[in-house]
This record gives sequence, structure tokens and C-alpha cells, in this order.
Amino acid sequence: MKKKITIIGSGFSSLAAAAYLAKAGHEVHIFEKNDTIGGRARQHKAKGFTFDMGPSWYWMPDVFERFFADFNKKPSDYYQLERLNPGYQVIFENGKKIQIGDNFEEIYEVFEAEEKGASIKLQKFIKEAQDNYKVAIEKLVYKPGLSPLELVTPETIKKLNTFFSTVSKDVDKEFESENLKQILKFPVLFLGAKPSETPSFYNFMNYADFGLGTWHPKGGFFAVVQAMQNLAESLGVKIHTNSDVQKINIEDKKAKSIKVNDEIIESDIILSGADYHHSEQLLDEKYRQYSESYWDKKVFAPSSLLFYLGFDKKIKNAEHHNLFFDVDFDAHADSIYSTKKWPKEPLFYANFTSKTDSDTAPEGCENGFFLVPIAPGLEDTNELREKYYGIIMDRFEKLTGEKIKDHVIYKKSYCVNDFVKDYNSYKGNAYGMANTLLQTAFLRPKLKSKKIDGLFFTGQLTVPGPGVPPALISGKLVSQLILKSLQS
Ligand SMILES: Cc1cc2nc3c(=O)[nH]c(=O)nc-3n(C[C@H](O)[C@H](O)[C@H](O)COP(=O)(O)OP(=O)(O)OC[C@H]3O[C@@H](n4cnc5c(N)ncnc54)[C@H](O)[C@@H]3O)c2cc1C
Repeated sequence: MKKKITIIGSGFSSLAAAAYLAKAGHEVHIFEKNDTIGGRARQHKAKGFTFDMGPSWYWMPDVFERFFADFNKKPSDYYQLERLNPGYQVIFENGKKIQIGDNFEEIYEVFEAEEKGASIKLQKFIKEAQDNYKVAIEKLVYKPGLSPLELVTPETIKKLNTFFSTVSKDVDKEFESENLKQILKFPVLFLGAKPSETPSFYNFMNYADFGLGTWHPKGGFFAVVQAMQNLAESLGVKIHTNSDVQKINIEDKKAKSIKVNDEIIESDIILSGADYHHSEQLLDEKYRQYSESYWDKKVFAPSSLLFYLGFDKKIKNAEHHNLFFDVDFDAHADSIYSTKKWPKEPLFYANFTSKTDSDTAPEGCENGFFLVPIAPGLEDTNELREKYYGIIMDRFEKLTGEKIKDHVIYKKSYCVNDFVKDYNSYKGNAYGMANTLLQTAFLRPKLKSKKIDGLFFTGQLTVPGPGVPPALISGKLVSQLILKSLQS
């Protein structure tokens, strides 16, 4: 029977869930508090520049293909993808650069040039990572996290040992070059935790990096949001923007309605894709599953200080994606996860999508996105933002030998307070909850409320975790649970 399903938020996980639920024949409404959709993957346009506000690394293209295939579609039905070469470059001390190409031969050469014998070690490392990737995709990440038993298969049992070592330990054991070690530890940062806290199994991210590549959707990541919107709307989903959900109402331990801009919307099923902590705040306290101290003890993925910059010239000495790893990696990681302070010497990331996608900046100009990962919950003031702006612009100029500061014609900053204000993000986190050993699979916050019938959750704080591909998977998993609950 056709049910009315209301979804809070329009991030990737909500859009994905909406599409599956509408395909199954239900009446689906998305309520988004902001005036545009996409959540952390919104787009910002100003003075002829186009910026993706959040994600810029399109990794694991197979997950996007699987998602669209569920609707007999392909990503290319909606957007054009280009594999970047170099995928990215890393800038080390004194401006030394290492570029990661779009094929293994080039990557092996780069490793060998950096450390004799490293290409052979890398081949072994990647073989293992590829195997882990296969197990992760086929046996683990598409599981709803209901019980530990769902993870027990002959393939996963063989991998048990990889949960008792860490990515850092494995990389440090095999490789000598500090630069190569940093390149190999970088991909797991997407999972939101320190490489020294991330189980070795997650080295499948290295296969995602070198084997599956770094892609760019033409027009930017927002093209993927638009694709999801087109798909969802074609299936009948109704999207309501400027619709702030203020309350989830419960009757007889059953989800009953939501209050949106002072209007009550009756619902058979309520699904929240907003940050889990906030979603539970919309409930009376007795209906919440997790206490404040539960959330406080969790390892959250970083927040970020971001700058969206428009330049009046083309930037010559940078690539599409640039990682500035010229300072102590561990010291910065400690500032995020241990001391929880602003970093003394920040690592940072800069992208210029207009280098490979000219439509995202006016002719002769470049758009820039600079990101410094920081601990969630830090004090956020204009003075601090400006201090770090100065630091990273100076470092960029020094390391690349190119003047950019005097060429900025558009500037917008974004940090902890904005994440809280715009997304109701817990402590202003950018990427949700980290994938540490104790925050993996069935140990993450649940997709289905344990206390209320008809109430579900999705998104980067649930399974499988942070990032756009996991958000798509989370939307699929929760939709399956909802459909199952409607059958019983
Ligand atoms: C700066 C940054 C860079 C990133 N880089 C990458 C990357 O390169 N590659 C990658 O794969 N991932 C990246 N990520 C992570 C990725 O963007 C997220 O994991 C993913 O987009 C999260 O989707 P979601 O559906 O969980 O939630 P969100 O996108 O957070 O969506 C939640 C939505 O709920 C809405 N909402 C909240 N409260 C309410 C309410 N009361 N009423 C109505 N609506 C509400 C919010 O406005 C928001 O739109 C990045 C994230 C950030 C912030």
C-alpha cells in the first residue's frame, strides 16, 4: 500500500533514499531547511565563479554506477566524467612535488624514483588493498549494521587480522620514504580518523585512489546532486526547500508527523538525513536513543576552515587537486584528534577546478577552494580565520613560487559556526563520524530507531560512514529497511 514518507534534509543520503522509496511506489517528500539542495555538497556561485562547497574528490566511481544501475541508468545519462591526470599532486618541504598519475605504471615509476625498491612493495600493498576493496564492497559496506553476524562470511573471516593492525603501522613497516608514507596514509583521512587509528583493512582506500582513480564531474560535484534530483523527481519525489523541520512528533511510540515552518505534516514513515545528533534533538528526550555523553565520547571526523576564492588570473604552478604536506603530518593530526586545538602549522588542501573545467570560472580567471582540517567544536572567529588565511596563502606562494594573494577578487570563508548554522552539524563537524574500529558497521548509530516505530536515520553518521559514496549506500540501506518494515 502506498505510504507517505517524509525525509528531513536533502544531502546525498536523503536523495538516494528518496529515489529508492519513490521507485517502490511511495509518496515521498523531502524537507530541506536551506534554500538549495545537496547539503554539504551545495554549490556557491559568485562573480562568475562556481564553487562546490564541500566534496571535490570523486572517488569509487563504481559505487555511483551501482547506484544509478538500480534505476536502469548510468552516471553518463546525467553528467560527464573525466579521469584526472595527474589525479593530484602532493607538495612537500621546500616545494618538492610528487604527482599521482592515472595509471599504475606511472605511479610505480614515481615510487621507485622516490625510494629504490618501493615499486615492488607498492605492488604487493596494492594487491592486498584491491582484495580488501572487493571484500568491502561485496561483503561489508552494503550491510545495514543490525548485527555483528552480518559481517561474518568466509571472505571476511580471512580478513580478521587486518582489523588488529593499523594503516599507519603497515605503511611504516614497508616504506622508508616519509613522502611516500604520507601519500599512502592520505586516503584514509577521508574516513575521518587518524591513519594510526584506522584498521589496516581500510587500506582499500589506497586501491580506490591508485586503482580506481580521481574523477571530475563536468560542472563540478554539484552536477551529481542535480543528477540525483532529476532522478528522484522523475520518480515522483517532491522536494521542499526553505523548510526547516522543528519537531518530530510521536504518538503511541510511533512516528506521527513533523513540524515544518509551523505546519504539521502527517507521515507514515519519517526518515532523517540531517546529522543524527540534531535529528534526535527534534524528539522529546524520552524518545532519544543516544545521550549527550554518548555523542561526546565519539570520535568525530574533522571540521574544516574553508576559503572559496576567485582569482583574476590563471594559476600556473598548481594542479586541479593539491595537497600541501610540507609540515609535520602527525602534529596536525594530533591537533585534530588529541589536543583539539588550532594547528600550529596547518596542512592544507587547495583545488582549482577551473584548471580542467573552464566553465567554473570567468575567462582568464581561476576558482580556488582551500581547506584546512581542524578539530570539531573549536572556537571560530574572524580573527582566527584571517590568521590562517594569511598562513596558507604565504605558504602557497613560497612553495609554488607563484604570487596569488594580490590576485584574489572574490573571497568567502566558511568554518565551524557555518557548519552548525547551515546544517545543524554536531560541533560543526564537516564529514560526520569517523570510521575507527569501535565506530564501524554495527557499532555506528542505527539506521532504524530502537524506540520508535516508523522512524529512521541515514547519512554520514550512520553506516557505512563519511563521504559521498557511503552516503549513497546509506540511503540505499535505509530504504531497504523501511520497505521491509512496511511489509511486516
Ligand atoms: C568541506 C567538505 C569536503 C568534503 N570532501 C569530500 C570529497 O572530496 N569526497 C567525498 O566523497 N566526500 C567529501 N565530503 C563528505 C561528503 O560531502 C558528505 O559525507 C556527504 O555529502 C554527506 O551527505 P549526508 O546525506 O550524510 O548529509 P548532508 O549533506 O549533511 O545533508 C544533511 C541535510 O540536512 C539538512 N538539515 C539539517 N537539519 C535540518 C532540519 N531541521 N530541517 C530540514 N533540513 C535539515 C541540512 O541542511 C543538509 O542539507 C566533504 C564534506 C565537506 C563538508
